[in-house]
Amino acid sequence: MSERIREFLEQQRPPTPCVVVDLEIIRQNYRNLREHLPLAQVYYAVKANPAPEVVRMLAAEGSSFDTASLPEIDLCLAAGADPRNISFGNTIKKESDVREAFGRGVRLYAIDSQQELHKIARSAPGSRVYCRILVENTGAQWPLSKKFGCAVDMAADLLTEARDLGLEPFGVSFHVGSQQTALDQWDVALARVAMLFSSLQERGIELKAVNLGGGFPAHYLDEVEGLPAYAGAVMHAITNHFGNRIPALMIEPGRSLVGDSGILQAEVVLVSKKSYDDERRWVFLDVGRFNGLAETMDEAIKYRVTTSRDGADTAPVILAGPTCDSVDVIYDKAGYCLPVDLEPGDKIEFHSTGAYTTSYASVNFNGFAPLRQYCI
Ligand SMILES: *Cc1c(COP(=O)(O)O)cnc(C)c1O
Repeated sequence: MSERIREFLEQQRPPTPCVVVDLEIIRQNYRNLREHLPLAQVYYAVKANPAPEVVRMLAAEGSSFDTASLPEIDLCLAAGADPRNISFGNTIKKESDVREAFGRGVRLYAIDSQQELHKIARSAPGSRVYCRILVENTGAQWPLSKKFGCAVDMAADLLTEARDLGLEPFGVSFHVGSQQTALDQWDVALARVAMLFSSLQERGIELKAVNLGGGFPAHYLDEVEGLPAYAGAVMHAITNHFGNRIPALMIEPGRSLVGDSGILQAEVVLVSKKSYDDERRWVFLDVGRFNGLAETMDEAIKYRVTTSRDGADTAPVILAGPTCDSVDVIYDKAGYCLPVDLEPGDKIEFHSTGAYTTSYASVNFNGFAPLRQYCI
């Protein structure tokens, strides 16, 4: 936990649950990424943490933005972003939203299907389009495969048709899956991208850019490689497949920019057992699946957890949220252990919760408010 967050929590004692995000950590993450991948233009994936303070700070640092909807575009514009630095990166857009985005000056759009291409041609004429291709998400702890992207031969046809429709066939994108722990996945994806570049060249189309997507990790329970290893793997794969004809590079980090900047503080509501011989305690918190910890679905993301009683003996627990829904169990199989003297009112912290927490919280399920966030 950063000193600034520790001080904030101690001095302000905000009501729980809440996330406290240290903007200086995000700024430093952004600068480190720029330093290690100087050739890549950073498009922050706004969905990871859409707090205006975060977007404003990144806009001031010179970041571009990957957006999925009109409200995200408006958020970026209000934060001072130039519409030319905004990518409408969702491959599933209402045509009315494309028209509105075009009206606001957005000129870069993602596609992975013919209908989407036609929407862009009609409602954002002359814009740049990049086509997302399918890649396996092997090694990703939060996969994004299947739903997005198309096969390489289809992508070639779409980008060719884009040219014929008066659009600019700008490039190719992929996403290796979020919290990707296998560093060779960029090489696998870039092999396909390079194939696509050459087959389009044969049709007289010079693509300009490769969008590397997201996938760089935050620090959860398992140790992960550092940024230099990831950046090295990506650049190695780029030169492996493109030699010295390196295309313009875009990268869309979400988790790796903001994940480690946040601490979610919650409170123990109840510690109980279901029978006299129950081997594990149930620890119920004021936070759960529906008000911030959505990524614990299937126990996919395993946060580091600390409590105000750390140091005491620990024993296995099932961690659960406060709502009246039995899927609101945070960790069961993951095998978390917590101090044996844990009591209602004790504080508990989930670390590296700056990404995909507040933006995933439900509006009012069971009357529990969306997760509060403080940016410091
Ligand atoms: C969610 C998303 C990202 C961010 O991914 P991370 O793994 O969080 O870095 C980037 N690009 C697109 C298109 C996305 O949908």
